[in-house]
This record gives sequence, C-alpha cells and structure tokens, in this order.
Amino acid sequence: MKEPTLGNPQNTIAVLKKYGFVFQKKYGQNFLIDPHVLDKIIRAAKITKDDFVLEIGPGIGTMTQYLACAARKVAAIEIDKALIPILKDTLNGYDNIKIINGDVLKTDIAELAKKENAGEPIKVVANLPYYITTPIIMGLFENHVPLKSLTVMVQKEVAQRMQAGPGTKDYGALSLAVQYYAKPYLAANVPPNCFMPRPKVGSAVIRLERYTEPPVKVKNEKLLFQIIRASFNQRRKTLVNGLKNCTELTILREEAEQALLELGIDSNVRGEALTLEQFAALADRLGE
Ligand code: SAM
Repeated sequence: MKEPTLGNPQNTIAVLKKYGFVFQKKYGQNFLIDPHVLDKIIRAAKITKDDFVLEIGPGIGTMTQYLACAARKVAAIEIDKALIPILKDTLNGYDNIKIINGDVLKTDIAELAKKENAGEPIKVVANLPYYITTPIIMGLFENHVPLKSLTVMVQKEVAQRMQAGPGTKDYGALSLAVQYYAKPYLAANVPPNCFMPRPKVGSAVIRLERYTEPPVKVKNEKLLFQIIRASFNQRRKTLVNGLKNCTELTILREEAEQALLELGIDSNVRGEALTLEQFAALADRLGE
C-alpha cells in the first residue's frame, strides 16, 4: 500500500493548482493540511485491517489515503463533481477505495453497509461539512445504519453540546439525542490553521461509540424525541409550558404537571435540568 502523500500544505496546494480547483463555500470545504491531526483521527477511530470505513466528504482524498492504509476497505461519498477526477488521481494506486459521487443525505447508507460489508457494523470517519453536521449524524442513527463508531471533525461548540450533561449551558436536544445512541469521547481540539482555507470557528474531533442497547429503555422512541425537542424549543420557558405549546404533541398543562408530580419532579422545572432517564420516564407516563 502506498504511503499517504497528501496532508501537508505544499502537496495540497500542488494538487489544487494542477486542477485549478475553486473552493465551494456552500459545500463547507475546509481541507486538512496537518499530518499530526490526520494521525490523531486515525488513532481515535481505532481502525484495523478488519474495518470497512465510510468517509463522508473526502475532498481531494487526504484522509482517504490515511484510511486506506489503516482499513480493509474504504467507501468515500463526495458531492462535488469537480473533486471526482482529482480523487481518481490522488487515490490511484490504492486498491481498497470506492469513490461515490453523491449527496450523503440522499444516499442509503444502510444499503451500502449491506452491500459492501454484509450488513455488519461499519465505522464512519469524516472531517464533516459543518453546515450539515446534525442531519448527517442523526440520519445515521435514526435510519438504523449498522454502526460501530463515528469519529468526526465538527465545530468545537457542537462537540461540547454532544458531550454536555444536565444543568449546563450546552445541554440540549442534541446532547440527549447523541447520548441516547452513543457514548461521546473528545479526541482532540483542532485550531483553524490546520485547514485550508481556515474556518472561522474552532474544531474538535469527537468519537461516538454506538451503544448496542440504548442506556435507557423507553416505550415510544418517537414520543421521547418529540418531548425532548419541545422541552428545549423555548429554552427560557418551563418544561410544562414547552410541552403545552408544542403543536406536534397534544399535552394539556394538567397532564404534564401530573406526570412530573408522579415522577417527583418540580412542576416549574426547565428542560435543561432533566436527565435522559427522567425524559424517558416522562415519555412513558405521557404516552399512557
Ligand atoms: N475530507 C477532506 C479533508 O479533510 O481535507 C475534506 C473535508 S471538507 C470539511 C468537507 C467535504 O464534504 C468537502 O469535500 C465537501 O465537498 C463535501 N461535502 C459537502 N456536502 C456534502 C454532502 N451533502 N455529501 C457528500 N459530501 C459533501
């Protein structure tokens, strides 16, 4: 297997010049140019030669080269047509990479895992396009894609929200949704100078290790997430008001207050004070 050649500023600039590549802001294109960060991501993802890895947004193929050396097989989905001939060039000589030109949000990843990895759990590794971080991650979880882990570069604030616990300012619907499906670990903080062009925000690598069973049991998953969203929709309102005002749900003030009372929770509580377990118990009560 060829050693990675990309991942430093000189070689990245040479590839971009060769193809006259123009960065597309709308696709969230910030390419990695630091080999230490690339090594850190590969280590954090704990990739072995048994793994099938899905990379979302390979760009010019920088991380793809590192992944191909570490994994058994890599599939890389890239939306920007202009990058496909570049990828064919930079990934020439690696025989375990499948390049797919498409939108990850419109691709059936469960089907891809079925076809390419016999439906066995896959690892996702990506320097994500930040404008669609949440839909990508939630899409993978909610569509029941067989997953071992996701190791992804995200905006630093998003990484903080994914890990946040009750009572903190970062705690919200994303924290609860992520923590229902996976255990988050922060692998690295990454400054803007590790990318070309430099993003305006700080970044972080986070590993989400998928639970085989969610950490809480709930009778109606859909209702749980509706309640969570309603509770954080109006952050400064009480949980009861959030539930009462939600048009997706038909919950009366008295019903919400009664359910909280039965769970031994103050009826003036705000959503940010409740744990995942308490939200699950509340969903079970309100679902009755
Ligand atoms: N992996 C490369 C790297 O680290 O240098 C590029 C990462 S860049 C932050 C995000 C990549 O995702 C870009 O190549 C962009 O074109 C691609 N992308 C954006 N939206 C996408 C989508 N909906 N589906 C697939 N790829 C997408």
